[in-house]
Parts: sequence; C-alpha cells; structure tokens
Amino acid sequence: MDSVYDIAIIGGGPGGIGSAIEAKVLGLDKILLLEKSNNHSDTIRKFYKDNKRVDKDWQGQIVEIEGNVPFTDGTKESTLDFFDELIDKHGIDYHFNCEVDKIEKDDEGIFNIRSSKGNFKAKNIVIAIGRMGKPNKPSYKIPASIRGRVNFNLDKCSKDENILIVGGGDSATEYAVELGKSNSVTLNYRRDNLTRPNPTNKKLIQEAFDSGLVKPKLGVDIESLEDEDGVVKVNFKDGSSEVYDRVIYAIGGTTPVDFLKSANLDLDSKGEPIIKDNLESSVDRIYIAGDIAFKSGGSIAIALNHGYKIVKDIINR
Ligand SMILES: Cc1cc2nc3c(=O)[nH]c(=O)nc-3n(C[C@H](O)[C@H](O)[C@H](O)COP(=O)(O)OP(=O)(O)OC[C@H]3O[C@@H](n4cnc5c(N)ncnc54)[C@H](O)[C@@H]3O)c2cc1C
Repeated sequence: MDSVYDIAIIGGGPGGIGSAIEAKVLGLDKILLLEKSNNHSDTIRKFYKDNKRVDKDWQGQIVEIEGNVPFTDGTKESTLDFFDELIDKHGIDYHFNCEVDKIEKDDEGIFNIRSSKGNFKAKNIVIAIGRMGKPNKPSYKIPASIRGRVNFNLDKCSKDENILIVGGGDSATEYAVELGKSNSVTLNYRRDNLTRPNPTNKKLIQEAFDSGLVKPKLGVDIESLEDEDGVVKVNFKDGSSEVYDRVIYAIGGTTPVDFLKSANLDLDSKGEPIIKDNLESSVDRIYIAGDIAFKSGGSIAIALNHGYKIVKDIINR
C-alpha cells in the first residue's frame, strides 16, 4: 500500500492547489498533484495578461475564504508567486508535464491513474482540470487562412493593430481596456448591456468607451468571418462589416467531456458532470473542484473553497 496516495489531484490550478494545501494542513498523509503543463496554474499563465489585476470577488461573486489558503486581491504575478510559495512551503509532491488521460477503479476500490508520466494509485481523486484547456469557439467557421489572426488569448498581440474583442464578461472587458492602450480596439457583445463584469471592470470599460479608448459594438452578434487580403473581415448580423487585423474571443471554456467520460463519470444531458452537495461525482471518491463544477462562472476563491470542502469530506468519512 506504500505507493497508494491518500489523495491524487488532477490539475494544478487554484482548485488543485487548494485541494493539495488543504489535504496537507488538515492531515492527509500522501498527497499527489498532477499537472499537464510545465508549471502550475496554466490558465492564469496563458489567459491573464501581464500585470493583470486579480480580483478575489471575480465576476461580482463575493466569496469568503473558508479554508487555509489566505488568497486576496493581487496581480497575475503576485498570485503565481503566492501559489509557488504555498506549493514549496507545504512540500507538495507534484509532477508537471504530466497529463492524466484515464482513471479506473480496481476491485479493491483503489484508483489507477494513467498519465504521460506513468501510472499512479490513489484512494481519493480530485478532478480540477478547469475549462480553459478548450476555450469556447464560435459556431461559424473560421477560415483556415486567417486562423493565426483569430485568437483566444493575448499571446499573439502586439501594438498598433485594429483589434475586435468578442465577449461580455470580465475577461473580455479587461482584454479590451488593456489592449486599447496601444491598439485600436472594438468590443463586441451580442447583448445591448454589459451586465456580467464586476463593478470595477464595468466602471473601467465605461470610462474606456467614454474616452474613446475602446469602441463599443454592442447588441449585435457576428454572422461570419472572411479572409480579406490576409486580414479578418467580420460580417455582423445587422448587415454591417468591418475589417480587423485580429479578432480575440473571450467567451469562456468548454467542459472536458472526453476526460470525464474516461473516468466513467455520469454526465447530464448537456455533458456536465453530475455533482453531489459534497462535490463528489457519480463515482464514489472522485470529487470535482473549481471551474468544471460550474456550467459557467467560477473563480479562484471558489475553487480554493472547493478544495477545503472536499478534503473535509474525505477526512470525515
Ligand atoms: C482571462 C481570465 C481572467 C480571469 N480573472 C480572474 C480574476 O481576476 N479573479 C478570479 O478569481 N478568477 C479569474 N478568472 C477565473 C479563474 O482563472 C478560474 O476560475 C480558475 O482558474 C479556476 O481554477 P481551476 O483550478 O478550476 O481551473 P484552471 O485554473 O483552469 O486549472 C486547471 C489546470 O488543470 C490542468 N489540466 C487540464 N487537463 C489536465 C489533465 N488531463 N491532466 C493534468 N492536468 C490537467 C491545466 O493545465 C490547468 O493548469 C479569470 C479567467 C480568465 C480566463
């Protein structure tokens, strides 16, 4: 039994790190954290712009931290440092570049976890793989010739471009305000009003609209995208068309259905995992933490609270 972990956590974002720290603090002995990218917190590294303000009450959701991870407002960098220190301080046993692709229970109720770094065994599993591995894409076609100019994060952005940001949440408004400082930016959202961002982002985007830093294109959806001489022609449903150097979609992420199926979890008709009040899935002792526990929304603080709730449940059993 030496090689059997008390808890194996799949995904090293806030939900996974929170679960690992709580497991350590609340007294589980053998804890394993498996992360597919080359460092923890891949969503924060890939989708947050540098120096981004990180709000504890993201999307206007007021959350009190319940457990032992004292997360507060900060920046992208301070949040990553905070998680670095937590992982080091608590001596968490982790593997990076370790993608899990299958979880099976044996006859004795022990889980076999298959990963790109070999197999592991555990008595309890937390799945905290988020949704941003597969960002949401529009339903219309993106012509292959302009795919390099149609993006889902800011990695390819530079300066002095004419950019369309698509989305109406905090990510879209933050991207717009930031890129507006060095580019010509338009924010497109299908509804007339931006109701989803938190109060700070609502204020900042309104100021950006008022000052002309960002142009609003609200209340209209996109019909199609075309290649026009190597840049992106966007055809809107109101009959208008504009040409942009770049289009960035910030419209959330999808449920990793294949992964959940490979762990034999029951899904509802929309492909979302069925989750009990204690955050356990349909499979005994497989728990779900963080963004995949929600159809949409979620936040760092909520993911951390999931970790606390799950570990308490495991300990109380
Ligand atoms: C642009 C943007 C800005 C945001 N700003 C804020 C903010 O200011 N404040 C806030 O509270 N929230 C913010 N959020 C939301 C917040 O980032 C998420 O709610 C949070 O990251 C969810 O944590 P998670 O652990 O569920 O998932 P994630 O953070 O997505 O972490 C999942 C991890 O699992 C790994 N993984 C995936 N598949 C596998 C696999 N098969 N095997 C092993 N590892 C795997 C991924 O590489 C990733 O590191 C923002 C989100 C975006 C996109």
